[in-house]
Order: sequence, then C-alpha cells, then structure tokens
Amino acid sequence: MSDRPNLVRRTPFPTSVSRAVATPLQPSVVYASPDPDALDAQYEGRASGYTYGREGHPNADVLAQMIDRMEGGEGGIVTGSGMSAVTATLLGLLSNGDHIVGGNQLYGRSLRMMTQDLPRWGITATLADPTDVAAMEAAITPATKLLLIEVVSNPTLRVADMEGIEALAREHGLILVVDNTFTTPYAFPAYARGADVVIHSVTKLLAGHSDVTLGYVLARDPAQRKAIYDTNVTLGLTPSPWDCWMAERGLYTFDMRFERAQANAAALARLFADHPAVETVLYPGRPDHPDHNRAGALLGGQWGNMVSFRLGGGRAAANALARAAPEIAFAPTLGDVGTTLSHPASSSHRGLTPEGRAALGITEGFFRVSVGCEPIELLQRDFKTALDATL
Ligand SMILES: *Cc1c(COP(=O)(O)O)cnc(C)c1O
Repeated sequence: MSDRPNLVRRTPFPTSVSRAVATPLQPSVVYASPDPDALDAQYEGRASGYTYGREGHPNADVLAQMIDRMEGGEGGIVTGSGMSAVTATLLGLLSNGDHIVGGNQLYGRSLRMMTQDLPRWGITATLADPTDVAAMEAAITPATKLLLIEVVSNPTLRVADMEGIEALAREHGLILVVDNTFTTPYAFPAYARGADVVIHSVTKLLAGHSDVTLGYVLARDPAQRKAIYDTNVTLGLTPSPWDCWMAERGLYTFDMRFERAQANAAALARLFADHPAVETVLYPGRPDHPDHNRAGALLGGQWGNMVSFRLGGGRAAANALARAAPEIAFAPTLGDVGTTLSHPASSSHRGLTPEGRAALGITEGFFRVSVGCEPIELLQRDFKTALDATL
C-alpha cells in the first residue's frame, strides 16, 4: 500500500442545511444503485431514480418541466438539438411504407429529412401549403400517418391555417405535429390548441443566448411519447447536462425577452415600411400581411419577433446593408437576445434554384430580421444607417 492519499474514490459532496438557490449542475453519466433489487425497482417504476445519462438526467428533467408548464402538458423530452426532436419524432412514430404531409416552407433541414432522408427508409412525404387546407387535404393518401406543420413560416412569415389543419388531422385520424419554435408557447400554445406532438428548437428563443443547441418534444399519447423517448435514447440524440443547465438559465428571462423583442419588432416593422429603400415589409402584425386576420385570431396580438423585408435593390444593396450594420450580427439564426439579420438567398435557401426562390418571393434583396432586446433607439439608428447605405 502506498502512502499516497486515495484520489480515485470520490470525496463525499458536502451537505448543507441551507439549500442552493440555483439548480445544481449534475454531470454524472452513471448512477450507482445499492443492489440489483433496487435496480429492478427503478426499471419497473416502483422507485424513481437515474441509471445512465443517455436515458435521462436531472438537468434535462428540470428543463423539460419548465417547458411543459409553458405548453401546459407533462412528460416533455429534451433532445440534443431541434433537429434531434424532429428526428426522434418522425423515426419514432413512422415505419416503412408510411407517408407524411409537411408544410412546404418548413425549416430547411426538416424539408431535407422529409424529401431526401426519409425516402431511403421507405417513408415518403408530400409538401403542401399550410395556409390552404384544401391543398393539405389533397396531399393526404391512404398511407398518410402524420402532418408536420410550423405555425409561422420561415422566412416569409406566412401563418398556417391551424384550426383548419387541426380539424383535418382529426377527420383523417392523423398525428398532428407542430414545430412551435417561431411562435413559442406564449404566442401559440400549440399543445393546448390540440397538437398531438409539439416540437421546439430550444436553441432559439427559449434558451435565447446562442450558446446551446437543444430541442424538446411533448407528446400527448403515452405510447407515442414512449416511442419518441426510446428513439431518442437509442439513436443517442440526448442532451448534455451542461446545455440543459444553460438553457434553464436562459429560460428564466424568456417572457421578458419575448415581450421586449416583440415590441421592438413592431417598431422596426414601421421603420422598414417608411423607408424608401424597402419595397415590401412582411410582418403578421401589419394589415397588409396576407394572413393578418388569421394571425390576429391565432396569436392573440403576439405578432412575434420576426420581421422580413425586401429591398428594391439586388445583391449589391444586400451587401451594402450588411456592411453598414456591423453591430447587428449577420448570422443565419434566430431568437438570440440580440438582433440578428439573415439573408435567405445566400444561407437557408441557397440550395434552391433562383426560380424556386422567386416562387417564394425570396429575392437577393430579401432579409429576415430576428429582433432582439436592444434599446429600440439603438436598433432604429442602426437600421436607418444600414438602409440609407443601400440607396
Ligand atoms: C432552428 C430550427 C430547427 C432546428 O433546431 P436546431 O436546434 O438548430 O437543431 C427546427 N425547426 C425550426 C423552426 C427552427 O427554427
């Protein structure tokens, strides 16, 4: 026996009669049980506890419960990214031979999964316009099992006919999956409004600081929940405790951030509309938006934090705008505490042909702004400078 102290056997964690105010971060991947009987009790649901980090851990559960409360459900599952949430849902609920109908302006990677990846596993998809229930219905076949919808489309901010789609799902016995990332539960409580499965990219507005990648899935039916959970664990799509802890911290200020960002977005939509460089403003809160009335009824005056606009000029004007606003991050993301600017023609929609982009109205002068929480005077000054530079 060496005289050196034992460093391998863990030193007991100090106890404290006063409790920690912040949630502890628990990085342990493995959990030691007292004996095999205790492990049986855990696996058979007679005792609660953790076994292995990929199957669940306390930091994921704390975060899931917070988002559950926002959506008004329970048993939500945290996943390693928003795309993991989409993957676990689709692969958990679908089998070879199934067909799904998706919105035609979904998040780019979701579109790719449906049109390029799922077919390799024998699952086919048809895309349809979710503002048009008749078009959605026409896409349904006898093999259709599920509808995947985003309430507000990216980047043109069209608003889906959620009531019509919900009725369609009921009528045809389809699982209605809503990716509620853009709207958040505060603008559209998707679960309370009848979605069977709700997905979030927690990376965006919920975590809010562009420093974690996480997702979330809430399923109403216990068998569907179990299928999604098992797929998440088996495919290894599960989240790290550290990311969950960071997201929880971000979520504490979600409602203040969202309120402020929405008020800023309304003010910027007015500034864009009044500026001579701007040809069109796309913002559901404006009466000239094609889905303004539906958005009013669905979102209850919460118009969101996204505003898109089209410049009269082309790529040269777009370059001038990005260069003249160096303080506004030109980055293809959304939901950060700070305002970010994205240019779909060179980022999210670069894979489309120019004709494909034109069909969506995405020109070289098209920008999407994810409005953040800066003082509005600062944003107004920066955007005025940037827009002036394009003339
Ligand atoms: C970003 C996003 C996703 C994917 O989320 P990640 O966390 O980046 O994997 C899915 N859906 C929507 C609507 C998104 O905006």
